[in-house]
Amino acid sequence: MHIVQLKDRSAYRSNAYYLPDDRVIIDTGAGHIDYSRITALNSILLTHGHPDHIGGVAALSHTHNSTVYLHAADGEHVTFSYTPAWEQTLHCNGLTLHVLHTPGHSPGSVCFYEPSDKLLFAGDTVFGYGIVGRCDLPGSSIQQLRTSLQKLSQYDIHWIYSGHGRPLDNGNWHIQQAIQTIQSEAEDGLRT
Ligand SMILES: [Zn+2]
Ligand SMILES: [Zn+2]
Repeated sequence: MHIVQLKDRSAYRSNAYYLPDDRVIIDTGAGHIDYSRITALNSILLTHGHPDHIGGVAALSHTHNSTVYLHAADGEHVTFSYTPAWEQTLHCNGLTLHVLHTPGHSPGSVCFYEPSDKLLFAGDTVFGYGIVGRCDLPGSSIQQLRTSLQKLSQYDIHWIYSGHGRPLDNGNWHIQQAIQTIQSEAEDGLRT
């Protein structure tokens, strides 16, 4: 699979992943990416509705006639129209992506799983080496995040492409580390 990682130039340093062969972009940065690099686009897939991931939607959908997918639980405050994403399988040209609803960092967070390369576009749900998405934001829930990480651990994941940072291999190992982080935070909470 041909994946072009585009990094937003703002302080967020959020990632957008452009899949040119499939005419797909996963997240759009905060609005500070050279969007002219995206030459053909049919589908804009959003992992969640935070501003550092949806900032390019207006510019991209102005230039390209494309369908925007977002989970409706994150759709309350967005100003663009979108097709609600739920637990479903999306077929984008030759690409098959399973949409996994993984609330926690936000109520409408989703991950996109590509089964043949065992690749997970994780948004802000999970990062590497035990780092998990923030759960101190309005609408976030550490209990939901724990359930979502346990759900992800049922999948065979080799690569993780998160909303911030570099791609990671040994995906299932990173998910186990994230589960341990949440477990120890819960135990800390019991002690204090
Ligand atoms: Zn976020
Ligand atoms: Zn983010």
